[in-house]
Parts: sequence; C-alpha cells; structure tokens
Amino acid sequence: MVVNQKHIAILGSTGSIGTQTLEVISLHPNQFKVAVLTAQSNATLLIQQALEFLPSHVVIGDESQYSQVKEALAHLPIEVHAGAKSLEYVVCLDEVDVVLTALVGYAGLLPTVRAIEAKKPIALANKETLVVAGALIMPLAAKMGVPILPVDSEHSAIFQCLMGESHNPIEKVILTASGGPFRSWKREQLAKVTREQALKHPNWTMGAKITIDSASLMNKGLEVIEAAWLFQVNANQIDVVVHPQSIVHSLVQFQDGSIKAQLGLPDMKLPIQFALAYPNRLEVDFPRFNFAAYPNLTFEEPDLATFRNLGLAFKALDKGGNMPCILNAANEIAVAAFLEDKIGFLEMSDLISETMERGTFLANPTLEDYVQSDQLSRELATQWVVNNSK
Ligand code: NAD
Ligand code: MG
Repeated sequence: MVVNQKHIAILGSTGSIGTQTLEVISLHPNQFKVAVLTAQSNATLLIQQALEFLPSHVVIGDESQYSQVKEALAHLPIEVHAGAKSLEYVVCLDEVDVVLTALVGYAGLLPTVRAIEAKKPIALANKETLVVAGALIMPLAAKMGVPILPVDSEHSAIFQCLMGESHNPIEKVILTASGGPFRSWKREQLAKVTREQALKHPNWTMGAKITIDSASLMNKGLEVIEAAWLFQVNANQIDVVVHPQSIVHSLVQFQDGSIKAQLGLPDMKLPIQFALAYPNRLEVDFPRFNFAAYPNLTFEEPDLATFRNLGLAFKALDKGGNMPCILNAANEIAVAAFLEDKIGFLEMSDLISETMERGTFLANPTLEDYVQSDQLSRELATQWVVNNSK
C-alpha cells in the first residue's frame, strides 16, 4: 500500500462521470485507490471494473443481479452488496476518505447525507442532491466540517476563481451554458424534436438524463440552484450566459467589478481530478487549449421564452422550501417520459410547471419531508403523463 493515498468511493462508477473518474484514478495510482464501486444495473461493467480496481466493497443497485456479481467476484476479497440501502452503508466505511457522487438524480440524496454524517468529504457530481435539499445538506456539511467539492465543470470553475478570495464578497456568479443542440431553435421546431436529436450534445458526452436536461436548459436551471447553495448567493446574484464553445467554464464578478474566469478545453476529467486532488493540481498531459484554434469565443443571452425550464428553476430557487425538490422530481419524470416517447420535448416544461403549481409547498422541510415530497411530486407528474400521453 502507498502511504497517503486517498481511498475513493465512487457512487455510479459505470456512468459517464464514474468511468472518467476511474480514468483519472488510473493516471495517478500513487495518489488514489478505489475503495468502493457502485452501479444500478450494469453488472457486467461493474464486475469488469471491480476485477481491474480491486475495491473492498461493491454495490449493485438492482437486487436481481446480486448473485451474478457475487459469483464473478467470489475468488477475491471483495464484499458484494445489493439494493439502494447498501449505498448508505458503504459510504460510511472507515477506509473511505472521499465519496464521489456520480450517480444520477434524487437517488444521490440519502447516501450523501449519510456520508456527510460520517464526516466523509464529498466530491459532488450529483447536482440533484443540492437541488433537492441544499438547505439541509449545506448546514449539515458545515456542522460536520465536511467539504463539498464541486465536480460540475461550471461550479469547479467558480470554486477555482474563488480560491484566495474568501474575504471578498461575491457580487455575482456567471454560469456559462453551451446552449445544447437546439440553441437558437424556436418553439415550432422544438415541438417536433425526437429523442435521438435531443441525445446529441455538441460538446460533451454524458448520461442520457443530463443530456436531455442540457437540451432543455434544465441542466443550467439545476446548476443555478446548485450554485446558490455551494456559493451562498441568491437568485439575483446568478446570471446565465450562453457560450457555445464551452471554453470559459464559468465566472465570478467581485464588488469592484472585476471578473475572474476559468478556461480550458471541455473535458470532465479536469474538474474530477481537481475535486479529488484538492487543493493540489496534478500534472497530466491532456490536450491544452490553443487560442489560435478558437478565434471566436462568443456569448449571448439565453432564450427564456423558448426554454422555459431555466425560468422555472429560477422560480423554484426564489420560492425556496421544497419547491426545488418538486421541480427536480417532476423533471425526472418528464425526462423519463420524453425518453420513452410518451410526451413531447416542450411538454416537459408544461408537466414541471403544473406539478410545481399542484404540489404542497413546505417552507422548512425536514429530511423526511423531502423524501415524501419527492414521492408525491413523482405521483403527480406520473399522473400528468398518463393524462397527456401522445
Ligand atoms: P450516467 O447515467 O452516465 O451514470 C449514472 C450512474 O449512476 C451509473 O453508474 C448508474 O448505474 C448509476 N445509477 C443510475 N440510477 C441509479 C439509482 N437509482 N441508484 C443508484 N445508482 C444509480 O450519468 P452521468 O452523466 O455520469 O451523470 C451523473 C451525475 O453527474 C448526474 O447528477 C449529472 O447531472 C452529473 N454531471 C454529469 C456530467 C457529465 O459530463 N456526465 C457533468 C456534470 C455533472
Ligand atoms: Mg455542468
């Protein structure tokens, strides 16, 4: 064993962020060791990863695949677990130094809460956790003295701009958005887009849910809420600017009007590595940004009338309480229904907006309230899909 290696638990190791995290770990075997790998349903890849990285624990979410994983790893000193509840157990193991949350959606909430309670630093890719319950997560992390290190590229950029600025108040954070595959499209065109068109992102290769969120601008909406919690700013202090080249990853404006930005080629391995190695920067030979190859870095206003989800997210943030939780649950149902071709692209916003209107508002929710609110909002949203299916 190498001394001072950080032992990492990766929740969602088979996904886009999870597999890129393993690439980063492979580049720095002296710095990092995999302690835990988890996946929801891709048992084959999970087994392959476990054979290569030899974690002490793995979790397969889908319990019907437990015996397959267990048998494949039986000859190794690897404990195999199944089911959602196991995630709450493995994040607390003594040997875990950092939990990287690369799972998608609301499922990240409870494991993240347990990890913070067990004083594990969080490398946070799973933005939905902060969207749903930032009001609970941030004070809990402060109380336990646990850092929440952003993996999302925009938030990593802001975090990097803020290094050395802790005594200087933020005037504004400015999140950049690529605009997705439908930038500058109008509602008539969007009404007809297919699942396949929406799954093609111009600059990033990501999981299906975040790719649809990027096409609908809900990803930027979720990131606005994520930024509000991470950097303790309110809705009026967050701007979104569309920057199709995805080179300027985000910016911070200070009280003297000075703006700091972080730039680089779009590659999630950079923010992943920075969150894992923080406060250090590790040497890597990823391709460097070349100004000559990008003579035009452009910036434009987002079209809120066409992409209503971004406005809905600002509204949920402004309202506070469990409203972002309702927004998130409705969005998860909307994206799943769109991917199953049950509703159209623009209808996702109708579903979310109506669920926000019909959900029961709670100003100061507890953890149990969030769990229940998520459940009830899913039921309302699912009913909307049944009533409005194509
Ligand atoms: P993905 O769909 O590629 O992977 C998701 C992972 O989570 C898989 O390993 C899957 O097995 C696991 N998973 C899925 N449902 C689960 C459940 N119910 N319970 C437990 N595990 C489950 O997703 P991704 O693109 O890697 O995104 C992961 C998270 O990171 C999301 O919150 C996303 O918003 C965020 N993020 C992703 C990117 C990116 O470039 N992909 C960038 C920034 C932030
Ligand atoms: Mg992002």
